[in-house]
Amino acid sequence: MGRIAYVNGRFVRHAQAAVHIEDRGYQFSDGIYEVWAVFGGELADPAGHFTRLARSLGELRIPAPMSDAALRIVLAETVRKNRISNGLVYLQVTRGVAPRDHPFPDPPPPPAIVVTAKAVDPIAAERRAANGAAVVTLPENRWGRCDIKTIGLLPNVLAKQAAREAGAVEAWFVDDLGLVTEGASSNAWIVDADGFLRTRDIQANILRGVTRDSLLSLIGELGLAVDQRAFTPQEAKSAKEAFITGAGTLVLPIVKIDGAIVGDGSPGPVAKRLRALYIHNARREGV
Ligand code: PLP
Repeated sequence: MGRIAYVNGRFVRHAQAAVHIEDRGYQFSDGIYEVWAVFGGELADPAGHFTRLARSLGELRIPAPMSDAALRIVLAETVRKNRISNGLVYLQVTRGVAPRDHPFPDPPPPPAIVVTAKAVDPIAAERRAANGAAVVTLPENRWGRCDIKTIGLLPNVLAKQAAREAGAVEAWFVDDLGLVTEGASSNAWIVDADGFLRTRDIQANILRGVTRDSLLSLIGELGLAVDQRAFTPQEAKSAKEAFITGAGTLVLPIVKIDGAIVGDGSPGPVAKRLRALYIHNARREGV
């Protein structure tokens, strides 16, 4: 983690950064978050993340802690002060501090805001992408509003830990119909047996990934066949390719699902091409 954090209006040393014990994020997970990838010191997909941030806040009726313009300055300053070239910026906004009581406090307190940044080693990330990674599938057990990027992530935490203990990087949730919803912190994709790029549509109970949206635009420009239709774990295991997308993983090829080898067991050409293109575009666009 970087050395400087932004907490409620001040840049503070990370080791001393703290929030109040009656912060509603701490007590009720009553808050939301956003994560931007950083390339060359610039935020990737800034507009998409700002749009989703506004939506998440609106869904929970938490007022924006500041204007987008001011927030952009805070995010850029957090990146700069931590000297992040490649990495991630994390933003969390909660309903604020109030005596513990379930309903929204009245009058509403000012929302609490925290920003942190951390570096990612691009060489290690590329090595992992070049090898491909494993996922495991688990029953969907999250709440019904996974479209909101809330900090209530306990099922995601438990799923990720189960994945780690199984030697995998990600867990894919599978709903009651036997269809993959998404990963614990990423969206799930395959190139199916007919060559269609498949990822679950956003009507369903998933987070609308900003990386997913950007990739869909890129895929459109490339003229690749895409079908926003959910798939089963079995379809994924017999797919030509599989991969996940997210600000943390970008486009990460998946070569093993529940121990079964996908394709020939190495990252496929579509996932590799999309990863390279996504990174190229993100570097070019910046803030
Ligand atoms: N789905 C979940 C549950 C996530 O937590 C994330 C990212 O954290 C994603 C999907 C991917 O979203 P994005 O591409 O905006 O990072």
